[in-house]
Amino acid sequence: MVPCKPRPFGVINIGMAAEPTAAEQLATPVQFLKGVGPARAELLERLELRAARDLLFFLPRDYQDFSDQREVDQLEEGKLQTVRGVVEDVDFRGTSSGGCVLGVSIRAGAGQLRGLWFNQQFMRDRFQVGQRVVLSGRPKQEGLVWQMHHPRAETLDAGDEEPATKILPVYPLTEGLQQWQIRKIVRAALETYVPLLDEVFPDEYLQAHDLWPLQRALPQVHFPDDRAALDNARRRLVYQELFILQLALAVKRRRQQALRRAPVLEATAKIDARIRRLFPFELTAGQERAIAEISADMARPAPMNRLLQGDVGSGKTVVAVYAMLLAVAHGCQTVLMAPTEILARQHALTLDRMLASSQVRRAQLTGGLTPARRAALLELIAAGQVDLVVGTQAIIQEDVSFAKLGLVVIDEQHKFGVRQRAVLKQAGIDPHYLVMTATPIPRTVTMTQFGDLDVSTIRDAPPGRQTLNTYLANDEKRAKWWDFFRRKLREGRQGYVVVPLVEESAAAIASIDETFESLANGELEAFRIGLIHGRMSPAEKDAAMDRFRAGELQVLVCTSVVEVGVDVPNATLMTIEDGQHFGLAQLHQLRGRISRGRFPSFCCVFGNPQTPESQERLNAFISSTDGFELAELDFKIRGPGDIFGTRQHGLPPLRIADLSADRELLDAARRDAHSLTAADPDLARPEHAKLRRMMMARYGKALDLGDVG
Ligand code: ADP
Ligand code: MG
Repeated sequence: MVPCKPRPFGVINIGMAAEPTAAEQLATPVQFLKGVGPARAELLERLELRAARDLLFFLPRDYQDFSDQREVDQLEEGKLQTVRGVVEDVDFRGTSSGGCVLGVSIRAGAGQLRGLWFNQQFMRDRFQVGQRVVLSGRPKQEGLVWQMHHPRAETLDAGDEEPATKILPVYPLTEGLQQWQIRKIVRAALETYVPLLDEVFPDEYLQAHDLWPLQRALPQVHFPDDRAALDNARRRLVYQELFILQLALAVKRRRQQALRRAPVLEATAKIDARIRRLFPFELTAGQERAIAEISADMARPAPMNRLLQGDVGSGKTVVAVYAMLLAVAHGCQTVLMAPTEILARQHALTLDRMLASSQVRRAQLTGGLTPARRAALLELIAAGQVDLVVGTQAIIQEDVSFAKLGLVVIDEQHKFGVRQRAVLKQAGIDPHYLVMTATPIPRTVTMTQFGDLDVSTIRDAPPGRQTLNTYLANDEKRAKWWDFFRRKLREGRQGYVVVPLVEESAAAIASIDETFESLANGELEAFRIGLIHGRMSPAEKDAAMDRFRAGELQVLVCTSVVEVGVDVPNATLMTIEDGQHFGLAQLHQLRGRISRGRFPSFCCVFGNPQTPESQERLNAFISSTDGFELAELDFKIRGPGDIFGTRQHGLPPLRIADLSADRELLDAARRDAHSLTAADPDLARPEHAKLRRMMMARYGKALDLGDVG
């Protein structure tokens, strides 16, 4: 803390510059910082670096590790090492195939090392004879000469860069700004401004959790002394980021519980028995547990906010039906929202079947309704004359009002998050919420993006499921696969042929029409085959689905409109065309359309992967049928970046933490956040004031934390 300067007694402070506060100083525009000026400030602006503070938190995207420095005669093959020397020779030449090679020989003491760069035209003028440089890479001995391919290079005399002796940061750049320039600017900013930074954690907290103070960590994240320092520094910043998020989520949950009122809907023995009578099968242990958790929530006067996840085909629907009937049994209304018309209609049919003998008044709201019919239904719903509404999310969120809504169920929802909960609120009392996910979600993601929800997980599948076989094939295998496909159709099974649609454009529709025509007149001409895609009207889609469900159609050629939820147990065959166009979760969802009954199922994906990533994805897909395992794999392949579209959840993205690498810290941060909010629910204690402020600044709006504190 900077001590206050005593002011002369009695002097009125008009026209005198007041001592700027730390916050004001940290807000100094970058233009006024050492080494910047107006022109560079414009470049920095492009990186969204406007104030001194932004520079401090402009974290490296990577590091150049120059810490293992060697003489040439001490080099070891294959290990990351650094050699320092003087450029002796530079040659740049084109290759016969139109590429280019840059070769740079450096003299390092008594030895010589050659750096080679292939096809990097822009490197052409990078080096000059006589320059002092360091090259860092994994060396290889070619004959008598040591070589490095694509080594990292630093020119020592450029911009007075101090001799590189350790680990240097690599920042994101913009055109016109060099790495050494931004390093210099950041280094200067750190020197001046880090001492002004405020520490959010009390001293004892830092000690108890073995965390570095911010003022120590931040400089080391930029210019670490060594790997250990970098790890410690990063750990501190990651912990803080995750902890603040977990605090916000914990506070949100507590507030939800404390401030919102929902109807008490208890599953009495009588109600429970009445509901179960309607189910045509015994429930699995996983379904039972989910139902128990849901019933416990709904029996409380605070709104349930629960995520139900289970692999495709694990039987989530019946769990939702239980919850809905529980609400209806108490005279409340309930609504089931699906992402597609097809799925909404399927749910309506399932409910019709189960509730045929019951008094539950049902309505289906779909896009195909006439305006008059629609208006009539809306009126009934508003008057409380309908108990159970099924429809697509789009339609229901638009303009339906309920008389006494007790439970909202959202099926197959990926993009549900903290923010959407606000919809369908009614005055005074809140409905309970149950969200079912399309695909299992990695645990780290449920803990962050869905961190304000309670989670129920169904791990087991209904009994009697047969094996599901997946093949990855190329065009040579086509004839054989169709042979097999036809044989199974003749045995009475049904199948899907899925064609990717990158967009629902006219051209794309033409291409699915083509697939349909060629199958109908070729491989599958002896069979009854139908077509379904997103550009068809709801009525056309329904008709095609109905005929398939009834077995009139043996094969359905479709786009990913069947991706979620569709349940036709007799369908056991699936052909996926151009599998490389689908994401892993999507492939798994598609495959989830088969293996839903008592026959073995077969999925063949034809693929032509163009990138290592899509190859990896397809390999993962055939390696496992476990959705939970695939979700983790997908997460690893794609990285945490956009898997569940953080932005769509309305939460600001994590900047430092890496959810796959930092799992343990996430667990720790969550535990710590929970024990802190258990002791001080609204973070009202003075020692938590800074944490509270930081939490509000970052998540107050996104999580609607309102007036906490
Ligand atoms: P998802 O979890 O993918 O939504 P569904 O709820 O559509 O799965 O259920 C998949 C299929 O399994 C449906 O045909 C359903 O009738 C059936 N099913 C669900 N639970 C059981 C059970 N306990 N025993 C037998 N079949 C079940
Ligand atoms: Mg489902």
